[in-house]
Amino acid sequence: MSEDSKKKVENVIIVGGGPAGYTAALYTARANLEPLVFEGFQWGGQLQNTTDVENYPGYPEGIMGPEMMNQFRAQAERFGTRFVTDDVDRVELSSDGGVHKVFLGDEEHRAKSVILAMGAEPKRLGVPGEMELAGRGVSTCGVCDGAFFKGHRVLVIGGGDSAMEDSVFISKFADELTIVNRRDEFRASKIMYDRALAVDNIDTLTPFTPLEFLPGEDGKLAKVKLRHSETGEESEIEATGAFVAIGHVPRSEVVKDQVDVDEDGYIKVEPGSTRTNLPGVFAVGDVVDHTYRQAVTAAGTGCMGALDAERYLRDSPPPVEAHWFPGGEPAEIAPTA
Ligand code: NDP
Repeated sequence: MSEDSKKKVENVIIVGGGPAGYTAALYTARANLEPLVFEGFQWGGQLQNTTDVENYPGYPEGIMGPEMMNQFRAQAERFGTRFVTDDVDRVELSSDGGVHKVFLGDEEHRAKSVILAMGAEPKRLGVPGEMELAGRGVSTCGVCDGAFFKGHRVLVIGGGDSAMEDSVFISKFADELTIVNRRDEFRASKIMYDRALAVDNIDTLTPFTPLEFLPGEDGKLAKVKLRHSETGEESEIEATGAFVAIGHVPRSEVVKDQVDVDEDGYIKVEPGSTRTNLPGVFAVGDVVDHTYRQAVTAAGTGCMGALDAERYLRDSPPPVEAHWFPGGEPAEIAPTA
């Protein structure tokens, strides 16, 4: 047996530490699978950048995003989950049910199954004030934060279906809502566009690109500086809420050349399951889902991934490389006569 094949082979490695990854960890830990989670250097996923979460069931008073992730993590840890607080550098997924490998630099970790839960990132404009005023007027999630903008004057940046959908939702709370698009034409589907524009307190402003988010004396968003996309002329518009809805990027870069992904990079799974095209490789949460993108839906698919992995491990013979002898090689057994 080579040195390589004597290394421990985990039952399951989970890549990603958001609601999906931690829920997968909780379930696999309670199933005695001793999961190893690579939770990322900035563990907690998108909820680490969120303030109040009021729509996660079970928290009637709401909870701060980072605190909620702390609790998810602690619950998974209680049942023996081990965490590595770092970003995975490289992954080698087996295509035939063999051992999968996850690398941190040169350090190799091996597993019979892998649950991919790397999440997605909202695209950012990359302009001053956008990150500084996040949670103080600037948001990337209409469904999460819309209800905090009762009576506000709000801008929604973007011209796709997300911008339309967010606008309709936020308009239930905001006094006035303006969709700011960088072109006169909108990328959104006609039905979504028509639905948004039919709402009384929604209008549009084109073709403008945000240049800067400006705080007021209270440190919260007060104005947005815009540039006319054609003339270059700059102007300011008052707003106490701004939602950046210009799309998401799934964080599938470490696996996208090995596992099937769609044209936008989201990992493909068999409908109604978390199974990817590779045996023993499962995908959960926002790295799969470009529709719902909620903590509760991510947690739900994390649970599905854990159950799928558990069943896979139960029903599949362990890969040959997965026989591990902690005390070295077993004594040779004399052939029976
Ligand atoms: P899209 O990529 O469809 O749209 C992004 C929008 O943001 C475009 O208007 C784009 O402008 C604009 N944009 C991109 N970068 C910038 C920038 N740097 N500055 C200013 N504006 C920018 O993303 P969506 O999230 O809207 O949609 C993604 C997918 O999800 C789509 O397939 C959509 O149909 C689907 N979806 C479906 C929903 C539903 O059916 N209920 C709801 C939400 C999304 P430009 O057009 O100039 O590139």
